[in-house]
Amino acid sequence: MMHLLQTRSLVAQMIPRGMENRSSQDAFHASTRLWCSRPGLSAHRFVIAAQPLTNWLLSTVLLSRIQCIWIELTVARVCTAIRRGVATMKRVFGIDVGGMSVKFAIVDETGTIIEHWSVPTNLTDAGSHIPDEMISSINEKLASSPEPIVAIGAGIPGPVNGENAVRAVNLGWGNMPLGNILREGTGLPVALINDANAAAVGEVWMGGEGSVTGNSIFVTLGTGVGGGIIIDGKIVGGDHGCGGEIGHIPVVAPSERVCGCGNVNCLECYASATGIIKNANELAEKAGEERRFTKGEEIFEEVKQGGATATAARDMTVDYLARALAGIMATVDPSEVIVGGGLSGAGDLLMVPLAERLDRYVFPPMRGCYTLRRATLGNEAGILGAAYQALQLV
Ligand SMILES: [Zn+2]
Repeated sequence: MMHLLQTRSLVAQMIPRGMENRSSQDAFHASTRLWCSRPGLSAHRFVIAAQPLTNWLLSTVLLSRIQCIWIELTVARVCTAIRRGVATMKRVFGIDVGGMSVKFAIVDETGTIIEHWSVPTNLTDAGSHIPDEMISSINEKLASSPEPIVAIGAGIPGPVNGENAVRAVNLGWGNMPLGNILREGTGLPVALINDANAAAVGEVWMGGEGSVTGNSIFVTLGTGVGGGIIIDGKIVGGDHGCGGEIGHIPVVAPSERVCGCGNVNCLECYASATGIIKNANELAEKAGEERRFTKGEEIFEEVKQGGATATAARDMTVDYLARALAGIMATVDPSEVIVGGGLSGAGDLLMVPLAERLDRYVFPPMRGCYTLRRATLGNEAGILGAAYQALQLV
């Protein structure tokens, strides 16, 4: 009787919470995963630790003791092999410095995010405390991490020139030697990258079936138009940190719209989420319509219903975008063109006409030689791209 009570107690400890009422097979798999996930569990210790598993198997599924031990040893061998592989894999910090929060992740060579967290961005004193707060967060994680973390990659909302963030208006930064500050504060090598470029690298690396080896174009259609261009597996940062500023390609337009950069009629005045609303309202006014659009979603909802003004506004946006992309494609000859940002949420209503226009404008020998797809990673793209840049340092 005593033996039975002990066994029940051990089984209760071993079965993960919430699995108590599941089938014995489910509970066995969950228990195995739980044991495998315990840090530093060697094969020998695993066998010792898994003795309750033997008792449980004996008492519930009536396997012989030899069968149970064979199962334990096999699982232990598999776990040890996996652990050896994981232990030799490099890990880095991928960081996305934003105006609201600084997002951190520990990422391995396969692009797996092992852990992620964020801290609010401290904008007081012109953002001058941000680097020190980043260092504290990194050093805290370095001290507690069971595996070494060997480099830092950080995406910055502004142009980046080598180790310097040249200007990041959202953070209050002028010239900020962030690379040098982080390296001295943590002892790790640091790669800085513009945040849109980081998203481009992340999307190409982990968002599809491609790899960061060839030529790709990434464009985001949000409040503005951002992007990144990858040539021979390397992001084009440019000599002044302005590479891949697709949104500021000048377009020929019948009206004059002032861009946030100070120029007139940049691509983002027409092809961003705010640009398409201006397109629609301009067309509505010309058609003598009273109503005005305030959201991109309203426009695409009307496109779905066959609304003439909304469809014309969508086509106008697509046309400007396709011409600009075809121009970059003629320069870069990419295998992949990726579209992200809020406007890409319209799906086929945007992507199908964009594919048609792009095919019309692209240099003819390139037709059928590239893929056009939507971005898939969302907010994780920037963190992964920054991590990828860090991995190139080690
Ligand atoms: Zn501009």
